[in-house]
Amino acid sequence: MRIGIDIGGTKIIGGIVERKGKVEITHRLPTGGKEGYRRVRERAIELINTILRESGVSRNEIKRIGIAAAGQIDKNSGTIIFSPNLGWHNAPLKKDMEKIFDAEVVIENDVNAATFGEWKFGLKERSRNVIGVFVGTGIGGGIIIDGRIYRGFSNVGGEIGHMIVNPHGYRCNCGNSGCFEAYCGGSYIVDRVRKSIYEGYRGKIWDLVEGNVDKLHTGHIEEAYLLGDTLCKSIWGETIEYMGAGLASLVNLFNPEIIVMGGGVINGSKQLIEDACAVMKKRAMKASLKDVRVERARYGDNAAIMGVAFIDV
Ligand SMILES: [Zn+2]
Repeated sequence: MRIGIDIGGTKIIGGIVERKGKVEITHRLPTGGKEGYRRVRERAIELINTILRESGVSRNEIKRIGIAAAGQIDKNSGTIIFSPNLGWHNAPLKKDMEKIFDAEVVIENDVNAATFGEWKFGLKERSRNVIGVFVGTGIGGGIIIDGRIYRGFSNVGGEIGHMIVNPHGYRCNCGNSGCFEAYCGGSYIVDRVRKSIYEGYRGKIWDLVEGNVDKLHTGHIEEAYLLGDTLCKSIWGETIEYMGAGLASLVNLFNPEIIVMGGGVINGSKQLIEDACAVMKKRAMKASLKDVRVERARYGDNAAIMGVAFIDV
């Protein structure tokens, strides 16, 4: 029996993952990330114990506990070297969990896990090479080459969000400028629109949020763009152009069969994938582009849980 857990910035979710990917006995707890590593680790343990209790499965029947978390992970020790979302440095999660549970403990980057989950339980029959692009507040990516997740030389590759798409461009939270994420990540896009509104811009976007700038999200920005709002035409138009350019670069680099896209910005949009694909098709090299498909992710929050329960180590 395999348990998958996803420790996110705001919530920890987990469940039992069946062989065909079905997730059962799911539970969630608030992460309480500000309370630090030890407290969050205790919550994760509590979550696993709750799942075990409800399933009636004993501890020694667990084959694997897979834990997905945002951040850079040391592959050999299962230590989370750095997680900006959780504020952790050198958190020895694998070692700590193995002391408590008599099972294989696997720690994996959350976006790698989500990409693997989408592939193994959805795309595998149709593809061996898949790129995952998850657009939320920032952008995370996962790379599957010939049926295996590609992690790079020291396990921290696949940072698609930090491909530099314009060296002179917007500042990125990573400290660099011009990253893909700085152009197409949700929080960056919202910040740009908000800034103009604070500076006095009024238009269709103002009406859409009924003057409440705090509730602004990228769904509003796309809607205002489609209605012809001047500001959003410029900002969302730029998002589409850079998203398309980013996808075209991925197509040229990896020649994947499928690019799978998920995350809050994608889920909240009507036609970002279609609009970005039109740009991608203009910009990518013909031979690389042939037969590539761009699809929406299917499993939402469960993808990382499903992936980390089965990912190759
Ligand atoms: Zn960056």
